[in-house]
Amino acid sequence: MKKILLILLWAVQPMLAQKTIIHCGNLIDVKTLKVLPKMSITVQGKKIVSVSSGFINPEMGDQVIDLKSKTVMPGLIDMHVHLRSETNPNAYLDRFVKNPGDQAYQALVFGKKNLMAGFTTVRDLGGLISISLRNAINNGLVEGPRIFAAGVAISTTGGHMDGTNGVNQYYTKDLGPEEGIINGVDDARKAVRQRYKEGSDVIKIASTGGVLSYAKDGMGAQFTVEEVQAIVQTAKDYGFKVAAHAHGAEGIKRAVLGGVSSIEHGTYMTEEIMELMKKHGTYYVPTVIAGRSTADSAKIPNYYPEVVRMKALAIGPMIQSTFGRAYKAGVKIAFGTDAGVFGHGKNAREFELMHEAGMPALETIQSATVNAADLLGQSDMLGSIEPGKWADIIAVEGNPAETIQSMSRVKFVMKEGKVYKNE
Ligand SMILES: [Zn+2]
Repeated sequence: MKKILLILLWAVQPMLAQKTIIHCGNLIDVKTLKVLPKMSITVQGKKIVSVSSGFINPEMGDQVIDLKSKTVMPGLIDMHVHLRSETNPNAYLDRFVKNPGDQAYQALVFGKKNLMAGFTTVRDLGGLISISLRNAINNGLVEGPRIFAAGVAISTTGGHMDGTNGVNQYYTKDLGPEEGIINGVDDARKAVRQRYKEGSDVIKIASTGGVLSYAKDGMGAQFTVEEVQAIVQTAKDYGFKVAAHAHGAEGIKRAVLGGVSSIEHGTYMTEEIMELMKKHGTYYVPTVIAGRSTADSAKIPNYYPEVVRMKALAIGPMIQSTFGRAYKAGVKIAFGTDAGVFGHGKNAREFELMHEAGMPALETIQSATVNAADLLGQSDMLGSIEPGKWADIIAVEGNPAETIQSMSRVKFVMKEGKVYKNE
């Protein structure tokens, strides 16, 4: 017995000591916003152990990854994705014919696309499927990004996330907190507790109407301040932050006053609300690309139902200029795309759109690393390449500080020390 143990230790020891050294042509320091040439990152197991200048030499048994012709940066974080689905002209029929199992297989494929596009971490803002996918990935059963899942989103009756909107009376019922539908503060508390029971990491609410729901109004407020407060306070008891989908000004304002951590989309955000967000420390997750692509899809005949088409054309194109104003006003920005509303894996296009609206290239990357990690409450483990953090590292072709389109040319992806892509 003792002998077997000794042999085992002897076999395992070099594996424990083995390190991976990554030689980086350029390394983006997302904290100081500098591009550092000729750097080395040392990874051991799942974590980063050191970062040093120059191309350091490996010790015996170490593995070297040559990224001398690439620009290296931390794994990207997308704060707003929907892994269970992807836009298509049959999306409204899919709701009736696809089972959770179908969505689960889709989510697996879409999750992998996000990972391969350099998004080693995503926050999924809707549906129970992503909780199961998160667990399967964490247990090593399947491959995908690190997921922070909202589970079922919380809405009011007829609100943006009421899944029975536009459904024949015969098939609908009066939904309650268990399905994420609340009316009043008691329901609000119960809905949050139900999410805790189901294993959510974060709470998502829809404080106004939305573009893609089968309902007339995309802008009107759909919660009272008291309801938002009840959600936020209960969420705190369970260690949850709250993300609020919101387009219209009144709904954004109520969400901010209610204490949410982030406003998603924020289309009709006024200057007054921007000041309020700065005062409360509320993050803005713009999803510019979602606005663009829904407006584009709305121009394709019969792509959306008429009621949706009108909203997509009105709301979609506005987000980019709202983002530009919010950035200039000094609102905290965290990168998020709403992937699923457009094709998964094309998330990096958002960097171009943010840059186009006036944000310097390196700051757009900071919003998808440092800022996103802060909004997740994960700054100790994610968002920068520093000793002790998860070895989530990606590399792109070219230098995004000069050519932002480089962000779509991801050639290397490592998550927790494991290489998923190396071209
Ligand atoms: Zn969304």
